[in-house]
Amino acid sequence: MYVKLHSSYHNSSPAEAAKEYLSACVHCGFCLATCPTYLDAQDERDSPRGRIYLIKQLLETGSAGQATQSHLDRCLSCRNCETTCPSGVEYGSLLDIGRDLVEQQVNRPLPAKIKRWLLRTIVSRPALFGIFLKTGQFFRPILPGFVQQKIPRKQKRLEQPSSQHARTMLVLAGCVQSAATPNTNGAARRVLDRLGISLISIKEAGCCGAVNYHLSAQKDGLDNMRSNIDAWWPYINPESGRPAEAIVSTASGCGSMLVDYGRLLAHDPAYADKAKRVSELCKDICEIILAEDMQLLFRNGKGDPPRGKVAVHTPCTLQHALKLPEAIPTILARAGFELVDTTEKHLCCGSAGSYSILQPDISERLLDNKLQALNIDQASVIATGNVGCQLQLGTKSIVPVRHWIELLDELPA
Ligand code: SF4
Ligand code: SF4
Repeated sequence: MYVKLHSSYHNSSPAEAAKEYLSACVHCGFCLATCPTYLDAQDERDSPRGRIYLIKQLLETGSAGQATQSHLDRCLSCRNCETTCPSGVEYGSLLDIGRDLVEQQVNRPLPAKIKRWLLRTIVSRPALFGIFLKTGQFFRPILPGFVQQKIPRKQKRLEQPSSQHARTMLVLAGCVQSAATPNTNGAARRVLDRLGISLISIKEAGCCGAVNYHLSAQKDGLDNMRSNIDAWWPYINPESGRPAEAIVSTASGCGSMLVDYGRLLAHDPAYADKAKRVSELCKDICEIILAEDMQLLFRNGKGDPPRGKVAVHTPCTLQHALKLPEAIPTILARAGFELVDTTEKHLCCGSAGSYSILQPDISERLLDNKLQALNIDQASVIATGNVGCQLQLGTKSIVPVRHWIELLDELPA
């Protein structure tokens, strides 16, 4: 696709980068068939190709209107289209630039601005989010049903391993996850302990930056990234005595941001090399488990209680950003769980970070479709790998929704 940049974008590196990404698109339209928002709305402007055209128009005319902003807002950033695209269009990176350029052109109404600011401020600060969550959990019993549905129940904290191993890995505590589903990292610590690995959380590290970055507050998102790098660097500096082997992410949404640090900070001379090292060291917990001897984790002998039927929801970020679509089913099948047949595995559950709050109607429809496709009548639990999906599915599921590492943790050792 050829783009002639408008004069206002001459010497703009984001516009030049967007032009480069756009040039790969041959407008074949294959991506439409797997785009959840296109399937929902049947409107070309809510498809990857339609949004690509809207960004092209902006780059060529130097202006955009509210309609363009709405169609870009409605994108889930699920990157399903990247997996489908035969020409390798890097749609996710293009969208981030497009959203930022549109934000500079189109003034949002004040209530929308406040809503987005509140979301960014609360969600990206783990301590603040924790206070909000605890308050919601306290008042849960007297709140209306539809609000109760959105507030996750308090988890009983697991006992943590006390042994110190020579092998160490860092873990991202995360913002929402550390408050809403703390047992995910608890279970990861216990499972890795059985493999002879200590999982360490550095308290100065915070939000991965995704919330700010994807809500068009890119400067704040980059600051979140720099602050995490500063927190981790003493533990991953190759010149330190025994650097940690990996930075483990137990939420694939955060992991997909961490692997992008190197690219996003490539132009910052003070952080480029360090960011690249973070991205190289970042691994989703499923990659760690698949690389170890799983036999050390559990018995698979006769006489064990049945493992139960599991419906797997692989998050979009694990499928399309980290390119690990089969990792969770492979691990659970090796561990002896029976996997329920599911359909439309590539489709988003409607969580998509803050999407369920900013686009509740579409999000709800996607959730209903996903729960149907997961065939939950046949399962005793849904297993997933990202806190956003876990909370979203949990609002309506009739069976518990858990991180798959918790299921592994509960197996008899
Ligand atoms: S599939 Fe790829 S090349 Fe084809 S229209 Fe979609 S983004 Fe463009
Ligand atoms: S990222 Fe997802 S919602 Fe957005 S255009 Fe691609 S497939 Fe559609």
